Amino acid sequence: MLLKKHFEQGELNGVIYGNGTVAFQGVQLNVYSYVVDGLCIDTGAHSLRKQFQPFLQAQPIEQVVLTHHHEDHSGNAAFLQQQGIPIYIEKTLLKECAEKAAYPFYRKVFWGARKAFDAQPLASTFSSKTADWDIIQTPGHAIDHVALLNKETGQLFTGDLYVMTKTRLILRNESIPTIIQSLQKVLTYDFADVFCCHGGLLKNGRKALQAKEDYLLTLQEKTLTLHKQGLTPAEINQTLFSKKYPITRFSRGEWDSQHIVTSILKDAK
Ligand SMILES: [Zn+2]
Repeated sequence: MLLKKHFEQGELNGVIYGNGTVAFQGVQLNVYSYVVDGLCIDTGAHSLRKQFQPFLQAQPIEQVVLTHHHEDHSGNAAFLQQQGIPIYIEKTLLKECAEKAAYPFYRKVFWGARKAFDAQPLASTFSSKTADWDIIQTPGHAIDHVALLNKETGQLFTGDLYVMTKTRLILRNESIPTIIQSLQKVLTYDFADVFCCHGGLLKNGRKALQAKEDYLLTLQEKTLTLHKQGLTPAEINQTLFSKKYPITRFSRGEWDSQHIVTSILKDAK
């Protein structure tokens, strides 16, 4: 399979990062892994193991926290566990993590086959070498999603809560109303830098998270208004999201703007 791969690493405001990119037939995806204070936050994808594993091995990692179970974040967790490093994740999908991962073929093409690993459940706080952390439950993108706040530095790691301001596609299992609640929850905390697992260190992190909240609230309002006017979910989708993306075809509809509309209507019932 002709997958183009790229990797770079560096340091930003005291946080070491590895950033891997995969590109296939016009679809390009990237993912970050972060290391700070002996703590690794997300491990990159298994398809990029030749890039991520030497990078991770060279870091002084004592513990791993995964922001959620998705294979682009957990792809090298088994590798780190083999080195005797403990892995932590929110408790809801612990059992699934310990089994062979079940996800569609196109995701295996991009992200590889995530190996099983045994994780321990996260509590609401966490300690690394010199810092205490808040673990903030932020479901919506995934049911086990958390954000991590380093209380010493004020640095916030948001996993896939942000990714971009103007979300136009989501996974079938995502919920826009739940994402809005999670954004609102995170915004009640005091924080400075925001590190996103696909966007890197965000410029003006708080503003970016607020902009996303605003955008999604507007989208929710528009969807409900069109629904009241009698439009079907498909018609609302066509009205709000006329542009179609290759990933929708690629994923056989697992990524689709339609899921934005249905998750909003489902919540309003
Ligand atoms: Zn994800």
